[in-house]
Amino acid sequence: MLNLIVSGASGRMGNRIIALAGDIENLKLIGALERKDSADLGKDIGSITGIGETGVRVTDSVGAIPEKGDVLVDFSSPSATIACLKSLANEPIPVVIGTTGFSKDEIEYIKLYAQNTPCVFAPNMSVGINLLLRILMDIAKVTGDDYDVEIIEAHHRLKKDAPSGTAMKMAQVLASALGRDLEESAVYARHGLIGERTNREIGIQTIRAGDIVGEHTVLFGGLGERIEITHKASSRDTFARGAIKAALWVHKQTPGLYDMQDVLGLK
Ligand code: NAD
Repeated sequence: MLNLIVSGASGRMGNRIIALAGDIENLKLIGALERKDSADLGKDIGSITGIGETGVRVTDSVGAIPEKGDVLVDFSSPSATIACLKSLANEPIPVVIGTTGFSKDEIEYIKLYAQNTPCVFAPNMSVGINLLLRILMDIAKVTGDDYDVEIIEAHHRLKKDAPSGTAMKMAQVLASALGRDLEESAVYARHGLIGERTNREIGIQTIRAGDIVGEHTVLFGGLGERIEITHKASSRDTFARGAIKAALWVHKQTPGLYDMQDVLGLK
């Protein structure tokens, strides 16, 4: 039996992970973390997710959880993730990080944590997106500089970071397949008299509207044709299932930083 802690427990993703984890036989929810000023502190997490009493009260620190966790799944915010990893530093446990929007320094801290403990860090936990990342690499290697690459992502109005972590991961995969430095190639906005497009650009454009769960299109524009590959998530459960799969996988690994491609055996 694997003791599971979820950080960001009352959030959109935390909610679904907790609800779906209840159906997994060898997974036992023992901790639900939320921010210090959350109105949910002290409540049974089951009453928030709508799955009925679980006996697990929402707390704001790992230290307040009565049992020891075997794996922690985090879908909170970058600063909350780093604070949580710091609180685990003396007694590290395997973690699955789905949170996006980290700064370079924060990513360095995650890498440091992963030196001693297995850690899955992935901006998108769906099978479809991870398959697509592989396909993108193959396409870019053939189309090269002859095709203009544009990434368009759309998410709900409440999303806090932009572009999405998934769009940035796609951009990194494409830049590496095309032998480009992403910092030099990325173009995040166009406005006014911008001149002709250069063939080294990787456009990354963001749309925020309504309740869009997550959509990503990669467009390879050539002369006389274009390829468009689109992934549309219609339910957060696709990410939640991926996160649970990662949790069951990560605790059996040796220390190191892994991603969803590792979890899904796509490498
Ligand atoms: P959300 O705002 O609904 O949930 C975040 C939760 O974290 C909130 O309940 C918030 O109160 C809580 N939180 C804030 N500070 C905290 C702290 N110090 N300790 C514990 N909890 C704290 O957001 P969401 O839609 O659930 O997304 C959460 C993160 O996951 C975002 O970064 C989002 O981009 C990312 N995300 C990743 C994937 C993926 O597949 N990797 C999929 C969807 C969303």
